[in-house]
Amino acid sequence: MNPLEGKVAIVTGAGQGIGREIALLLAGEGSKIVVADINYKIAENTAKEIESRGVEAAPYELDVSSGEKVKEMVDKILDKFKRIDILINNAGITRDNLILRLKDEQWDDVLRVNLKGAFNCIKMVSKVMLKARSGRIVNISSIIGLIGNAGQANYAASKAGLIGLTKSAARELGSRGINVNAVAPGYILTAMTEKLPEEVKKKMLEQIPLGKFGDPREVARAVLFLVSEASDYITGQVISVDGGMAM
Ligand code: NAP
Repeated sequence: MNPLEGKVAIVTGAGQGIGREIALLLAGEGSKIVVADINYKIAENTAKEIESRGVEAAPYELDVSSGEKVKEMVDKILDKFKRIDILINNAGITRDNLILRLKDEQWDDVLRVNLKGAFNCIKMVSKVMLKARSGRIVNISSIIGLIGNAGQANYAASKAGLIGLTKSAARELGSRGINVNAVAPGYILTAMTEKLPEEVKKKMLEQIPLGKFGDPREVARAVLFLVSEASDYITGQVISVDGGMAM
């Protein structure tokens, strides 16, 4: 039997990039997957890929920053699958600018999606997990939340906030069998990082002890560890997957 057979996992922002790889890897271990993304077309794509591998998947168009929409989705999932075992808060955006030029809108958008989005999902899904007295939650933070970055004050604040949220949720939910952890990826090759200027990429490479950028699958493997039995006694932790960039 596959280790995650019979489980149901929600992965937000799973239409592409890291979220898609997480969804595919968890599905490969037998978990049914709810593919939630603000962009329905790519969510449907990921879900189709999972189904072609013989695992049940359901695509949802979801803006994580709307508590109401998250609730609607959770209700639909319960109707369809009757349970939720795993929540991966992966949806995230960047709106980069130096602080002096950072617009209120850029600040608000990033905090609303990256931090409030995770709060909305934890709030709704933990209700279900509390009843079941079991669950795994993994928040995708970032190395930038640990070390900061010029031009990304909003993103860094949201990702550092996610770590505080992770630890608080771990303390609140631990006694009911729910583990909450975070993964802090470094520089991973996806659409989000593709748009960075070559000069910035070159500078970043110089700061990575392993001497290469990461692959979304490498982040997905850390997430798989955190939702598997192998991490039963681990909660409130942040695992960096960054080639040694932040140590
Ligand atoms: P990505 O390729 O941009 O994928 C993120 C997905 O989330 C996109 O499909 C995006 O849709 C979707 N999304 C955006 N806003 C949403 C919302 N409000 N509700 C639901 N879905 C939404 O990003 P990625 O590189 O895979 O990153 C995934 C996560 O890892 C993010 O939280 C990111 O901050 C974190 N991370 C990434 C790196 C890296 O190097 N790539 C490093 C550290 C941390 P749109 O494309 O339409 O916006």
